[in-house]
Amino acid sequence: MPETRTLALLAFLVLFLGCDKPAERPGPDAVPRPGKDVSERKIRVVTTIGMITDIVGQVGGERVRVTGLMGPGVDPHLYKASEGDVTRMAEADVIFYGGLHLEGKMTEVFERIQARILTVAVTDRIDRALLLRPPEFEGSYDPHVWFDVTLWMKAVEQVAETLAGIDPQRGETYRGNAKAYLEKLSELHRYVESRAGELDPSRRVLITAHDAFHYFGRAYGFEVQGLQGISTVAEAGTADIQALAKQIAERRIPAIFVETSVSPRTIEALREAVRARGFRVEIGGNLYSDAMGDPGTPDGTYIGMVRHNIDTIVSALSK
Ligand SMILES: [Zn+2]
Repeated sequence: MPETRTLALLAFLVLFLGCDKPAERPGPDAVPRPGKDVSERKIRVVTTIGMITDIVGQVGGERVRVTGLMGPGVDPHLYKASEGDVTRMAEADVIFYGGLHLEGKMTEVFERIQARILTVAVTDRIDRALLLRPPEFEGSYDPHVWFDVTLWMKAVEQVAETLAGIDPQRGETYRGNAKAYLEKLSELHRYVESRAGELDPSRRVLITAHDAFHYFGRAYGFEVQGLQGISTVAEAGTADIQALAKQIAERRIPAIFVETSVSPRTIEALREAVRARGFRVEIGGNLYSDAMGDPGTPDGTYIGMVRHNIDTIVSALSK
């Protein structure tokens, strides 16, 4: 019921507010529709996941009023736009989202709204050759690019260039802010590399609730296994749990991890299955996968979440 109503509201807003151009998918060089003068007011931005909200704050600073739709613990694969979200999107100057089907339940909303509102996937600038396309995701790309910090840096450039397109007078401000943030992200990348290097390669096995960490694994040398697949829509079956439990017990992997935006149920079932095989595997801690921590805490930023994850992983797997 709510979904139908949301789409009806969206159709109304698009019709009522006018639709003078056919829908087109904004690419890396997307420019805003003419006629929006933001020189005297803040740019109204709507974002999906917290990691994108963080980028917009870093790059836009005082010039933006950003509304993030998905807070701590929210799973973007399952998230459906509320009526309030649709109204906020219809009033925005720009909407930034992850793309690559990350926000799987919002595709239709984005398709309809982009006829009128500049709608930008922050992953558009990433070279497709660098994206992972896991067989179990049926030909689509893995959307969890933020765990390779060097890939997420492309999202920062995308936001900076888009804001500069909307507000050309302050283009250099956005590019300057982006440059400063990108320097911090380069430092973050080196930090993750150096912490990962503390673990013997044989210990770099990361087992989590869903398959969010393949880019992390590729970038920082971890073997990665997720119980639930790339999206959280499908649940793990008993056979998957037993197969993975056998492997953990045989290889004596010391820890497995829960995620803040995914129910811990399957990982707890996995731990029990391993224990039934006579090996005590620990829950190594909570990782931030598709959502950040609470606002105002270190983990409530992208840099903080990435640091928290690598520190938690290294501490649990070195035991
Ligand atoms: Zn995910």
